[in-house]
Amino acid sequence: MIDLRLEIDPLPIDEPLVVRLRNQSGVGGGEHDAVLIDVDSSRLEYDYNGFSLGLYRRGEESFDGDVIMALPGSRTAHRLIRSTSPHNTFLVTEQCDQLCVMCSQPPKKYHADLFSQFALAASLAPRGATIGISGGEPLLHKERLFSMLEAVASTRPDVRFHVLSNCQHLDNEDVERLVSIGTDKILWGIPLYAADAPTHDRIVGKVGAFDKLQRGLAILLKAGSSVELRTVVMQQNKERLAELAEFLFTRLSHIDVWAIMQMERIGYGRMNWANSFHDTSTDFDGIAKAIDIVSARGISVALYNFPLCSVPTQYRTFALSTISDWKRKYLDFCDKCGARVACGGFFEWYSHNEGFSALGSL
Ligand code: SF4
Repeated sequence: MIDLRLEIDPLPIDEPLVVRLRNQSGVGGGEHDAVLIDVDSSRLEYDYNGFSLGLYRRGEESFDGDVIMALPGSRTAHRLIRSTSPHNTFLVTEQCDQLCVMCSQPPKKYHADLFSQFALAASLAPRGATIGISGGEPLLHKERLFSMLEAVASTRPDVRFHVLSNCQHLDNEDVERLVSIGTDKILWGIPLYAADAPTHDRIVGKVGAFDKLQRGLAILLKAGSSVELRTVVMQQNKERLAELAEFLFTRLSHIDVWAIMQMERIGYGRMNWANSFHDTSTDFDGIAKAIDIVSARGISVALYNFPLCSVPTQYRTFALSTISDWKRKYLDFCDKCGARVACGGFFEWYSHNEGFSALGSL
């Protein structure tokens, strides 16, 4: 697993500090760049506007172009952007108004507002970067979120965002703002678990969530936003996927893609694993039927977080390698597999003795 926290020498700061690390000066250098001036075993020393910034690494890892954030009093820095990775995500809040049974990031009560720091970090990202925005529920802080998106859209029109949201906090007045930020700048990842309110609301632990979500989706689609609907397959909804596929076709055919996802065994997902994980390596029928329904009608569909060998041959083209590089692993039997390059493998916290029962090298 790749560590997204880096040990640093404590800094005399009383505000969060965002810095881009550079191996050499002069490459788009600016006031937010720290330039490498010395390497002593595992300690790297950077010059940051005349001050020393000491950072420690394991092995020979390079941080050139990475953007880090140091917090006052902390001996670690958050590695917000890894310049060579396509999997960079800002966790903008840990507050949420749902309690999903499979949540990988259970909500917390308190919120630290770091939107200004995230905006600065995005402005220092490599050209053409796509940055994930997740939580918690980002739209609980809609004004701050929109301000951040607007700031980055004006200074770095090449940067794009993928925002994960329960889509329940949008109003008609937001349409104009969404359009002005640029609908091509944001892909909204919106979870929808069933075509009926009782099933969806039970899964997300909130009465009325389904109805609010429909209103939010209508606003996004009215603005012309790009939408990726996300459905985690679980024991709770595995029998209802075909029904959901029909619902998408009749009510939401303008979405960009329907992502059918496997569970992540962490957070509430770990707590509820035994009652929620659906072993799709032995029972893929519901997913197959759902894929057949939407793809026959021209809706783009994809499988996220499915090991390739858990998917029947004729559906493998739908399975994308989606697990972020920093939390991805492979198992012993993957060593001999000819499909490993195309396969997204497993989450670092996947436990095989409680997981898929019918896997093997391809
Ligand atoms: S054996 Fe491993 S690498 Fe091969 S398809 Fe299965 S999970 Fe992926």
